[in-house]
Amino acid sequence: MTKTVSAAIPGLHHVTAISGPPQDNLNFWVGTLGQRLVKRTVNFDDPGTYHLYYGDADAAPGSIMTFFPFVDAGPGRAGAGMASAVAYAVPDLDKRMMDLAGAAVDFEGPFERFGERAIALRDPDGLRVEIIEGGARDEGFHSVTLWLDDLAATANVLEAMGYERVADDETATGGTGGTGTRVRYRSTDPERGSAVDLMTSDARSTGRPGAGTIHHVAFRARDAGEQLAWRERLAAIGMRVTPVIDRQYFDAIYFQTPGGILFEIATDPPGFAVDEDPAHLGEALKLPEEYEAHRARIEQVLPQIRVPS
Ligand code: ZN
Repeated sequence: MTKTVSAAIPGLHHVTAISGPPQDNLNFWVGTLGQRLVKRTVNFDDPGTYHLYYGDADAAPGSIMTFFPFVDAGPGRAGAGMASAVAYAVPDLDKRMMDLAGAAVDFEGPFERFGERAIALRDPDGLRVEIIEGGARDEGFHSVTLWLDDLAATANVLEAMGYERVADDETATGGTGGTGTRVRYRSTDPERGSAVDLMTSDARSTGRPGAGTIHHVAFRARDAGEQLAWRERLAAIGMRVTPVIDRQYFDAIYFQTPGGILFEIATDPPGFAVDEDPAHLGEALKLPEEYEAHRARIEQVLPQIRVPS
């Protein structure tokens, strides 16, 4: 494998979270937010649980939100050491607000952050979703917010990934229930989802993993060579990076950041059309090869779900 040298990670690939019952999750992410269900598969470590992937019409990296809907997941809560919000970019916030109001969906705002207008809402499990006006593309990610006790160590990792500090606000709130500092980092080779906000908060909240919390944040590598080059560079700054793991739709490497948040770097290829027709993504249950022999049993165990129109 040839290692390709790249100056910066271009942006987010996907964000993975934990949810409660899958039908409520689908109703919100497809019905309310207008995302497309682009893959219906199972948790590869626990095939009795779905792994649902949402994205834009093309299932493009930088738009992919994924969930493990544990039917009996206890409620989680964001706190320091966790990613606490995911943000989408939209070209026309007024239209989005009208649509949400028309559907009787509550939201916070509009408010302004770093010169851009934004609103925030919560999914059925309490995950904070922000919608930010700016950028030409609809439906892709804008940024994630990482809630931290201390910004410096995580900032160093982002800098090693080719991000630079572009803005800061010392009186930020950001849905934490307290006030703190928000610092924006942006890729120096930016594509979709190129911003990462680091924030502190004086809220007395202890994070607890569970439904409504983000499990990890995945960044993009355009190909396997870039991924290997990032793996070496991250190891060189002391990160303990996993070997490359085949996740069927991308190859993944993972590492725990000093601030407590699990990062992943995922490749663009092969993508979500590797095992089904791009026109029919997400319609059928897709299983990795090793589980095909158990399909009947798995289908019996998984809850019935219906994709909202
Ligand atoms: Zn992932």
